[in-house]
Amino acid sequence: MKQLINIFWFRRDLRLHDNAALYYALKSGLPVLPIFIFDANILEKLDDKYDKRVNYIYDTILNLYKNLTDLGTTLLICHGTPTDVWKKLVSAYNIANVYANHDYEPYAIQRDKEAYGYLESYGIKFNTYKDQVIFEYNEVLKDDSSPFTVFTPYSKRWKAKLNDFYLKSYPTHKYYDAFIKNIKAEPIELQAIGFRHCTYQLPNIAVDDSLIKTYNETRNYPAVKGTSQLSVHLRFGTISIRQLATKAHTLNETFLNELIWREFYMMILWHFPIVTKQAFKPAYEYISWRNNEAEFIKWCEGNTGYAIVDAGMRELNATGYMHNRVRMIVASFLTKHLLTDWRWGEAYFAKKLMDYDLAANNGGWQWCAGCGCDAAPYFRIFNPMLQTLKFDNNMEYIKKWVPEHQDISYVQSAIVDHDFARRRTLEAYSKIK
Ligand code: FAD
Repeated sequence: MKQLINIFWFRRDLRLHDNAALYYALKSGLPVLPIFIFDANILEKLDDKYDKRVNYIYDTILNLYKNLTDLGTTLLICHGTPTDVWKKLVSAYNIANVYANHDYEPYAIQRDKEAYGYLESYGIKFNTYKDQVIFEYNEVLKDDSSPFTVFTPYSKRWKAKLNDFYLKSYPTHKYYDAFIKNIKAEPIELQAIGFRHCTYQLPNIAVDDSLIKTYNETRNYPAVKGTSQLSVHLRFGTISIRQLATKAHTLNETFLNELIWREFYMMILWHFPIVTKQAFKPAYEYISWRNNEAEFIKWCEGNTGYAIVDAGMRELNATGYMHNRVRMIVASFLTKHLLTDWRWGEAYFAKKLMDYDLAANNGGWQWCAGCGCDAAPYFRIFNPMLQTLKFDNNMEYIKKWVPEHQDISYVQSAIVDHDFARRRTLEAYSKIK
């Protein structure tokens, strides 16, 4: 008779500490085998086999493997579609329960539904928990029990509901003895999942208290390190949201608001998954986008002749990161100056951002295009020159990424005249008002 075990499935929670589902798995009374699945459904859609994110996930998984090996246990690293992997696991092991944390994206919901059904047919329980947010699903609703679609009242209710219970850490370390001891899995090579090693730079995971304290003053200036750069860690769960929100709650309300924006968009995606396909405000489906491919390529490559836009796109292409202020400028420029469908920009960011997150990216693009819930009004068209004066006055950020910006030929190459583009946008948007 095979030994009866429980499985813990790592997904967007790549850490051992303060991990809700891992805590419950370890307390369950049966030995726990941790697993990770390199999901072929996702990987096969990535054309670039030098993907920085896959490299980052791979390195993080190897690190977890090492930490678990040091604890005398293992990490089973699998590759395939989750359906195929579960078939193999169910026949290889005698599993009582599977533990995992909630995931709110449409693909993940479907994946978990299938896993749930399959496991249930073998009498295996699939137990899932809230972990990547403070409040999920219907925990923050309006008085009439409908979801909020405007940020400020949502954030007020979010803060009113917050108390120590929601911020409490899960002390997983007390139960590490419950990890399985008599199975030793081997790590796999990156090539085995079809990818190649590439270099990437990852911001430090340490949370700098002084930076959070001064966040209000520094957060809008792309040339300084004035934001936390924790988005990649929040995306993959290498940091705990409860620990970060505890700091934000005590140190700086503006920073806490940004964490609430993250949950706001996750909540919107969960309640309104249609946003992945269409504008939150349906009337905006009728905008006559120009969708000029040559202009789109110039935007992607950072060759629009608008220095702040080009700096942002070049930073994105080189590093996989872009400062939030600049994300707003480049997104406004694409959708309003060039009248290009926000979905084109959204898809490009999805390919390039290390911190790519469906909910935040979709929310950010729809906000900039003016078609999202609680979005920037359609007549708010960022002026790239004024934005530069306000937020990169010494042109430090621009000089770093666009050294040729002072040449007259660079300025003359501007893809479109600002005043002309502004009028054209107002006309196109006003037709659907
Ligand atoms: P900080 O300013 O230090 O903020 C702390 C954390 O709060 C961030 O790490 C992030 O998790 C969250 N946060 C901050 N601002 C927002 C916001 N506006 N919406 C949602 N969460 C926020 N963020 C992503 O994580 N993934 C994306 O794919 C993404 N795409 C975006 C696309 C556009 C067009 C725009 C305008 C914004 C997008 N954002 C996205 C939000 C924001 O730009 C990044 O979260 C932020 O720049 C990351 O840097 P940071 O960690 O230093 O942020």
